[in-house]
Amino acid sequence: MSFDRLFRNARLPGRDDLVDIGIVSGRFAAVEAGLDGDCPAEDLGGRLVVPGLVETHLHLDKACLLGRCDCGSGGVKEAIAAVSRAKRDFTEEDVYARAAQALEKAIGFGTNRIRTHVEVDPRIGLTSFRALKRLKADYAWAVDLQLCAFPQEGLLDDPGCEEVLAAALEEGADLVGGVPYVDRDANAQVARIFELARRYDIDIDFHLDFDLDPSWATLFEVCRRTEEAGWGGRVAIGHVTKLSAMSPEAFEEAGRRLAEAGVAVTVLPATDLFLMGRDRDRNIPRGVTHAHRLAELGVTCSISTNNVLNPFTPFGDCSLVRMANLYANVAQVAAEPDLALCLDLVSTSSARIMRLEGYGITPRNPADMVVLDAGTAGEAIAAIAQPLFGLKNGRMTFERPRPHLYPDGGPAA
Ligand SMILES: [Zn+2]
Repeated sequence: MSFDRLFRNARLPGRDDLVDIGIVSGRFAAVEAGLDGDCPAEDLGGRLVVPGLVETHLHLDKACLLGRCDCGSGGVKEAIAAVSRAKRDFTEEDVYARAAQALEKAIGFGTNRIRTHVEVDPRIGLTSFRALKRLKADYAWAVDLQLCAFPQEGLLDDPGCEEVLAAALEEGADLVGGVPYVDRDANAQVARIFELARRYDIDIDFHLDFDLDPSWATLFEVCRRTEEAGWGGRVAIGHVTKLSAMSPEAFEEAGRRLAEAGVAVTVLPATDLFLMGRDRDRNIPRGVTHAHRLAELGVTCSISTNNVLNPFTPFGDCSLVRMANLYANVAQVAAEPDLALCLDLVSTSSARIMRLEGYGITPRNPADMVVLDAGTAGEAIAAIAQPLFGLKNGRMTFERPRPHLYPDGGPAA
């Protein structure tokens, strides 16, 4: 058989044997051992190959704000307020430049599909949304972007916001998000977001239950609305830190309800660790929901970056392998097969939440792949394996060579 590109000795997650990967016209043509190809082949030496890492929750529009606003002195409310103030100075060019900076980091760390949450309200209007629409087109060679328009500062309590949100949906937002906890009537916001989702026939991704009070939760109302609308498999909720504060019995009840309704959960370890427990002066709770326990109950889960270098999370490099490692550390996940599942939570499981078509290293799918410098999924997470290079539609999108060591002093100057 003749291939445009041929990679030998690749390890796919969950498989013990090594396979060769043949690519023709931007698609996987054959994935099996001992492929016979008459083109030059690259030997991957048993390294792990994934179809690409997947962010289900990343705020590109407010990335890279260090030095521009108060970063890190408070909790959730203070972070929202700090970005709200900084947002007054956002222009389309500024949003584009900062978002591109974060996006290029993500591409360089092997991410090739991203759901980005973009703020729309009467003050910023569609400025950030339009910047990200341009970004989506300009970087389509490396990454598929889904734009989730959402009202970060409230919907019902912010007059004029719903008109702006609807305008973003008219202009092609891929899905709608919500932040019920910032409106006085959280359930009423949930209802309005579902109405919009049904009107435009789009999926929903809420920020939800972002505190550590286990005595009440909005997730049950989201489950009820999901079933009422027939939206199972089309709704995700992010943070849901309350779950980390619930008793095992309450956690199990909530998990079973989410699984039954088809509501997915995205855990955002960096932000949750950074913003939760600000009222404590010792024994600060982790505030990170245990995705593995939810997955055991049948909930589709992902781990994602959320924020990078801004008041919600003044750290970050957009590496999903590092984020999965952070989660593993905090969730005390170190044994197999749970460690390997961490990689799933930033790839295959995330792809399921985004209902991605053609994701996976199998014949006929677009040739999207990332080679990690590790032999197994568990090793990749434990050692924070670096991605070495990646392809999208059969074309190379980035390369991150291994470090060169120079015991003899390196090349002469
Ligand atoms: Zn978020």
